[in-house]
Amino acid sequence: MNIGVLALQGAVAEHIRSIKLAGGEAVAVKRTEQLEELDGIIIPGGESTTIGKLMHKYGFMDALRDFSAQGKPIFGTCAGLIVLAERIEGQEQAHLQLMDMTVARNAFGRQRESFETDLEVAGIEERVRAVFIRAPLIKAVGDSVQVLSVYNGEIVTARQGHLLACSYHPELTDDYRLHAYFLDMAKEAAAAKIG
Ligand code: GLN
Repeated sequence: MNIGVLALQGAVAEHIRSIKLAGGEAVAVKRTEQLEELDGIIIPGGESTTIGKLMHKYGFMDALRDFSAQGKPIFGTCAGLIVLAERIEGQEQAHLQLMDMTVARNAFGRQRESFETDLEVAGIEERVRAVFIRAPLIKAVGDSVQVLSVYNGEIVTARQGHLLACSYHPELTDDYRLHAYFLDMAKEAAAAKIG
């Protein structure tokens, strides 16, 4: 499987490393033409307003909506989760608006800007090590969204068909099982296309 990591801003190299550890191929994506060769793409953490602006500038808004319409998997982590959401609390305009969820940015407040924890994630056997950095939370999800993990009663991992999102940075640890989970989604999507 060939997985792209959107490389406009944010944590790119770490995602490439995790995908490779999980047994996939990974490439940094800077131009929309590269999307054609991909089986899936990761939108990394960083700063969602900046990523959104750069996506507009380089034509990724339409290109990624088209990518999603083809059933190709997209994984948004932290700022990438915000970019995928249909609704952002307190903001009039959201970005890709692909996942039926409402997110709150910087939802842990100043006291807990960053922390690590072990999370139970549905579909993954043992707890996953998660690094939260000025992380968003998923405040509400539509019926087609499956909640995969909850932290202190709040949703932090969710899936809607071929779309996956988490509030934290799974690429900053040696635990690549969430990347392996995403690789499986890409394999399923590719098989469905051929079959
Ligand atoms: N707080 C950032 C935002 O709102 C996200 C932080 C992150 O990706 N680590 O875009």
